[in-house]
Amino acid sequence: MEHIVIIGNGISGVTLARHIRKLSDKRITIVSAEADYFFSRTALMYVYMGHMKFEHTQPYENWFWKKNRIELKKGYVKQVETNTKTLHFAEGDTLQYDKLIIATGSKPNKFGWPGQDLNGVMGMYHKQDLENLEVHAPNNEVCKRAVIVGGGLIGIELAEMLNSRSIPVTFLVREDSFWNGVLPKGESEMINRHIKNHHIDLRLSTNLKAINSDDNGNVKSVIIEETGEELECNVVGLTAGVTPNIDFLKDSDIEIGRGVKVNRFLETNIPDVYAIGDCAEQHEAIGNRRPIEAVWYTGRMMGETLAQTICGNKMEYKPGHWFNSAKFLDIEYQTYGWVFGERGRPEYEQHFHWKHEDDTKCITVAYHKDTNEFLGINTFGIRMRHDVFDQWLTEKRDVDYVMNHLSEANFDPEFYSRFETKILKAYTNQLQPV
Ligand SMILES: Cc1cc2nc3c(=O)[nH]c(=O)nc-3n(C[C@H](O)[C@H](O)[C@H](O)COP(=O)(O)OP(=O)(O)OC[C@H]3O[C@@H](n4cnc5c(N)ncnc54)[C@H](O)[C@@H]3O)c2cc1C
Repeated sequence: MEHIVIIGNGISGVTLARHIRKLSDKRITIVSAEADYFFSRTALMYVYMGHMKFEHTQPYENWFWKKNRIELKKGYVKQVETNTKTLHFAEGDTLQYDKLIIATGSKPNKFGWPGQDLNGVMGMYHKQDLENLEVHAPNNEVCKRAVIVGGGLIGIELAEMLNSRSIPVTFLVREDSFWNGVLPKGESEMINRHIKNHHIDLRLSTNLKAINSDDNGNVKSVIIEETGEELECNVVGLTAGVTPNIDFLKDSDIEIGRGVKVNRFLETNIPDVYAIGDCAEQHEAIGNRRPIEAVWYTGRMMGETLAQTICGNKMEYKPGHWFNSAKFLDIEYQTYGWVFGERGRPEYEQHFHWKHEDDTKCITVAYHKDTNEFLGINTFGIRMRHDVFDQWLTEKRDVDYVMNHLSEANFDPEFYSRFETKILKAYTNQLQPV
């Protein structure tokens, strides 16, 4: 019986295994060095915040795997020998495969800062990071201050986590406004204010120079690049982006760039070896997407697609319209289609921006300045329906249509009706020559 081996038990690897099982009787093994069972990485923060126990982040009961004949192996793959189809484990044993899928996810970036490996310096990615955080930041007695380096989605989650235990946070952000490589100005500036309103010491245009240690190898302070200021702290969170977790492939014949290079069928250069999820890098980006997409839904879609190919129905990865969601402290963020920030915004992309006077809700609608075609929407504090925007993007609706039907896309029409008139009025005003 053909043996399918998947390295990585995250959303991409597990989705793949589940779908292969639905379609076939193949032998399936999932390997992971991190945790015995699949868990929701995006829910890790709620464990620290006391909203759930770690077990609750596991979407499937422990019996699920045996019942579905999905073998689980705990171990770290240190080498892949493709000519003999063998995995070598750090623990000393080996495993043979017929088809191999690399689904090893990401690891937090470290940019060679002095002191980056001290006790108390951590990323916020793996289960082990959460355990580390419990050791170094259980409360504000043990951790008097934490410094977070890097202003993205994971950084702000870590800030919220520490805030929930009343641990003072200083947040070092290289950009001059929060996440403005992605968010348009109005949104990014609203989030700056929101972070500060939560008593987080947000330092924009600020870089880390070095991390200092005490006599026991623990974090004592950080030095700020621009000013030379020394800030005392006990924890440093490194959240300056993530990189594919593929160091173990460096000596293999599998082609790698920043990630594992794949074609549209998620095939690598080596027959019977594939890559999916955060660690996969498209030779050429699909549309406006990045060649590496480190997001949850991408991993799931890739897993579903590759299962078809593995089971004999060769299928191209076609992700459809871009969408994503996240949270900035207590403000929910959703994005559908393309809305670019200041950097990288195409010349034809026009924005309509509306913000509520309470400074916690806003929307930005992007459209083509010549054709008026609706290109995408960002919403903050207002929940919208994915299926509706997906349809409008496919139908290439114009911006007038979208603005006049926005309430149809709302999850909570009653809540939305309170803003609808204001949003439409602002939109109409924008169209009037001043
Ligand atoms: C705190 C946090 C919040 C997030 N929030 C969001 C969000 O709101 N929305 C969103 O879209 N995305 C979010 N993400 C990103 C999302 O979680 C990832 O895109 C997704 O989990 C990646 O899934 P994956 O299956 O590709 O890899 P992973 O989930 O990283 O799983 C890969 C697994 O492979 C294991 N592994 C790696 N190398 C080896 C090896 N050599 N041997 C054995 N095992 C190995 C790893 O230990 C890991 O268990 C968040 C991520 C984090 C960390």
